Amino acid sequence: MKGEVLLQPLRLLLLCLLMFFGYSSGTYAETNSSAASSQGDLQKIQDFHQPSPFNAESASASFSAASTAKPVFADVPADHWAKKEIEFLYGRAIIQGYNENGVLRFHPNENVTRAQAAKMIVKALGQSEKTVTRARFKDVPPSHWAAGWIERAVEKGIFQGYSDGTFQPDAPLKRSQMSKIIALAFKLPEPGNVGNKQIFRDISPSYWAYPYIVKLYYHGISNGSENQFMPESYTSRAQFSAFVARALNKDFRLPVNSSPVNSSVIATGKVTADTLNVRSSGSASASVIGQLSYGTVVNVLEINGYWAKISYNGKTGYVHKTYLKLKNVNGNPVQGRIIVIDAGHGGTDPGTMNGKTYEKNIVLSVAQKVKQKLASAGAKVIMTRESDVYKTLEERVQIAKNNYAELFVSIHVNSASPSASGTETYYDTSKNPNGYESYLLAKAIQQQIVNNAGMKDRGVKDYDFYVVRNNNVPSVLVELGFITNSSDYQKLTSDHYQNIFAQSIYNGIVQYYSQ
Ligand SMILES: [Zn+2]
Repeated sequence: MKGEVLLQPLRLLLLCLLMFFGYSSGTYAETNSSAASSQGDLQKIQDFHQPSPFNAESASASFSAASTAKPVFADVPADHWAKKEIEFLYGRAIIQGYNENGVLRFHPNENVTRAQAAKMIVKALGQSEKTVTRARFKDVPPSHWAAGWIERAVEKGIFQGYSDGTFQPDAPLKRSQMSKIIALAFKLPEPGNVGNKQIFRDISPSYWAYPYIVKLYYHGISNGSENQFMPESYTSRAQFSAFVARALNKDFRLPVNSSPVNSSVIATGKVTADTLNVRSSGSASASVIGQLSYGTVVNVLEINGYWAKISYNGKTGYVHKTYLKLKNVNGNPVQGRIIVIDAGHGGTDPGTMNGKTYEKNIVLSVAQKVKQKLASAGAKVIMTRESDVYKTLEERVQIAKNNYAELFVSIHVNSASPSASGTETYYDTSKNPNGYESYLLAKAIQQQIVNNAGMKDRGVKDYDFYVVRNNNVPSVLVELGFITNSSDYQKLTSDHYQNIFAQSIYNGIVQYYSQ
């Protein structure tokens, strides 16, 4: 699990954030198992069977008492990131945990359900459950263990339920929902003059929960991870406890950074390798200070040659950028990207031909149009040839490597019997370590060409052509059409269609980076 490597050297604050990252895959499995047995087991959850003696004045005293005692819960040990917060709530009888054969456990990594959250919130407010005689929600009959708590939470305007008349009491609580109920329950004041500053990369001001998330952020209750809030993710019992404890007691609140999004972040990078070493400096011989797993998104602060300086658990580290899919924070997705456009053949090698029409000339013309479009969008474009010269396949790959290329697109034209027609795009998974990324790029370009130029779709194909096989970055080879087919020939030799081919390749690259 990726969290294990990332978690070691951290302060409480970061641990808290990382638990969220580290457990995000684990909690899904737990959700499934607890959901299967939820109705029966919820009856046994002792969290929900005692009136709350909550008293705000004694909060701090209880906090210090709880933090010095030996752990209350067997599964919330002394070094657990949320031990103090969980025990604070326990001290207030807001939670009680599960008594399992005499051992008290909290199940901190299980997702908190909507019903559990309603009960915890109501108890945290020092309120009691309400008598329910008639179901407000069709899935919460008066006999439901949480009916009274849910009723009280709804009466207080903290929860609403869904427009189809359900409450979904056993559904996990999403972070967006969590933000709303915490902000409403604790009547968090509007933060001061914060302007329209973007706090989280994944939350825009038009998002429905934005006002609540902003409040949680500026009140030090939740600050996401790596500038992301991940509103659709679920909330664990430990996380929810921490949020409630912070809302109740300022001692638990997180420091608030008033200029949250780091202006020095130039891009994000999504890890495309199974594991990617994080090194102490930009060199393959530098010490490994951690590992990132596939799909992890990091902030990129600087790129120097092949090395990307990234922010990593609040520190900085270096990773090989070949295994990062880079995405600009602002502007066109290709801005600043280093992209190789390879016009096939050239010079003494005409490629395929039809009469006096040579592949080498068609593909150079299209390649130059692609270059112009990419350059206009701010990409750094490297051409393997800009004129009618011959370059070996080895040279073409070497040009890409010498220029720290991040993407490689080779442009060709096909030939066969006159009946064969259409576009096909190749990628390699036999040797190229970014085979899957190459496939995604191939699909995007192929689809654009087929749609825009009205070409027959011959599909994307995994084949080990030299230039796609020997590059390490996402690499594709596009066969625009058949010079030997009359319909394709008309398009390949038309300036209008060459422009459409080029625009389609450009669009495919932008689409790939936008995914
Ligand atoms: Zn060719």
